Amino acid sequence: MAKYSTGGAGSSASDSCELCGAENVDLQTASVAGATLSVCSECAQHDETPSRGSDDGDDGSDRKRQAAQNAARMQDAAQADASHWEDGADYDDDQLPYLVGDYGEVLVEARQDAGLQTAELAEAVGADESDVLAVEQGRATQANVGGSLIGALEAELDVRLVDGE
Ligand SMILES: [Zn+2]
Repeated sequence: MAKYSTGGAGSSASDSCELCGAENVDLQTASVAGATLSVCSECAQHDETPSRGSDDGDDGSDRKRQAAQNAARMQDAAQADASHWEDGADYDDDQLPYLVGDYGEVLVEARQDAGLQTAELAEAVGADESDVLAVEQGRATQANVGGSLIGALEAELDVRLVDGE
């Protein structure tokens, strides 16, 4: 029942040539019509890879390499800026709504009721602990806390921090 293992686990295809379907042949990689296929030696002769084809291949890996570099760069930036919660993105649109007068106390109480530390609450809402502390200390405006954090805290603890509505 089980196909016999080729030992080359991971290759999705079986041992058959992707062009002519010949089975149990020595497969080699060939570039055909822009696609990289595993083909038998017969079909490999139809390989369309003169020097231009290999240019295509190089492009692909360059692009991949560049993508990896970009990702690494973004990660560096994120780490360098990890001190600030979600800098960028919709920060400008993230207006702090008008909050209830004792929002700090409301939050502290709700957090304690939930049995959470500020760090745990911050993690739960994906925010910086310093921002959560700022809200608890009634410094949301000064600390430039965004409305989305307030909303997340409200949702997390099922409390009301925004005034009105
Ligand atoms: Zn073939």
